Amino acid sequence: MNGPVEKTHLKALSRAGLEAWVTGLGEKPYRARQLWKWLVPRGASSFSEMTDLSREFRARLEAAAEIRSLRRVSADRSGDGGAVKFLWECPDGNRIESVFIPEADRRTVCVSSQVGCGLGCAFCATGRLGFSRNLESWEILDQVIGVRRETGEAPTNIVVMGMGEPFLNYDAVMDALAVMNDPEGLAIGHRKITVSTSGVIPGLLRFTEENRPYKLAVSLNAVTDVLRTRIMPVNRKYPIAALMEAVRAYSRAPGRRVTFEYVLFAGLNDSREDAARLLALLRGLPCKVNLIPYNPAVGGFQRPDEGRVERFLEWIKPLRSPVIVRWSRGADIGAACGQLAGSGPERVDPPPMESEAPDISLRSDLARRRGARSQEAAVSRKASSAETGGAGSRKPGKRTGGGAS
Ligand code: SAH
Ligand code: SF4
Repeated sequence: MNGPVEKTHLKALSRAGLEAWVTGLGEKPYRARQLWKWLVPRGASSFSEMTDLSREFRARLEAAAEIRSLRRVSADRSGDGGAVKFLWECPDGNRIESVFIPEADRRTVCVSSQVGCGLGCAFCATGRLGFSRNLESWEILDQVIGVRRETGEAPTNIVVMGMGEPFLNYDAVMDALAVMNDPEGLAIGHRKITVSTSGVIPGLLRFTEENRPYKLAVSLNAVTDVLRTRIMPVNRKYPIAALMEAVRAYSRAPGRRVTFEYVLFAGLNDSREDAARLLALLRGLPCKVNLIPYNPAVGGFQRPDEGRVERFLEWIKPLRSPVIVRWSRGADIGAACGQLAGSGPERVDPPPMESEAPDISLRSDLARRRGARSQEAAVSRKASSAETGGAGSRKPGKRTGGGAS
């Protein structure tokens, strides 16, 4: 049959795959390295940008290959601290979100791993969407490349805490992280990359066995199976005791310290008894705890006020691990933890305005805000530890327990 010739989707190729493809065209391997540099570290979205490639080679590329990218639909900046929520459209029309969180000492991108999520946590807007499909590894990577292109700022930290459960899309996530970490890729250090799981044990075991160097976060959120199953149905399959056993196995290797995320819901999991149970569960485990006051999303839960959060912090003080309260930023634009719901028909927030043109003002405004915040931070913030997630932010003076990370 004589259909149109399918062009090679270059971003779907690994570095080795790209080299094989280029040499298959009869070109020298160094051409592949040039091309890779354009596609990944430089984030080119067209062959015409690749000015140091010969005109002839570019013409061959145009004929045989294509550069697909996520299309930016919108970029909404939060009024409470500069987080930017990006809504992207995949080539098949599915929509996903990423969040850029600039801080004085780091620039974090929170990336999505799936379109929606099938795990249905009762408090999470992404869970409400249900699962559409896994993202391909290039779609995970392209979120970071796209954020860099749009903001003009090179990300320093990655958290896989956007839409989806990364351990249910294990291979694609690990492939994407490998390129982010690759010195010839985005060159982001492995300790600056964090994967967050709701507790999918087979993925956790694989992550442990394969000795993946990235940091691990586990969303615990409840300390009894009854409550955890109610708010996180994944707990039925992977209950707390089994999850903790898997985490302990992970933590056995030196230098591994898991971060537990604990979303605080007023009157549900923030009692003294909950604190005591949490202490018992985590005793002796090298870990950190991120307390995340619930961000209004779905499920009608209550966000605890500062007093309740302080009280809970006091109760878990005996834990000799760093505890950080993450008051999420970006809630006003639906970019805080658990609020990402850009892909499906059941949006919880109205669809943002379409804006196709590159948002030049975004760049300069971000730069201005970052400057202002660095000054603020210099006077008011001493702590500069631990990772951030979603559109998380740390309030000064909210730490208890042992040393910095
Ligand atoms: N699926 C993975 C990663 C994405 S969710 C996971 O569950 O870990 C990222 C984090 O957001 C998790 O710790 C989750 O517990 C938290 N989260 C979800 N909904 C939230 C909400 N409404 N308020 C605060 N945190 C929320
Ligand atoms: Fe999925 Fe994580 Fe949301 Fe649960 S909290 S529904 S696992 S994205």
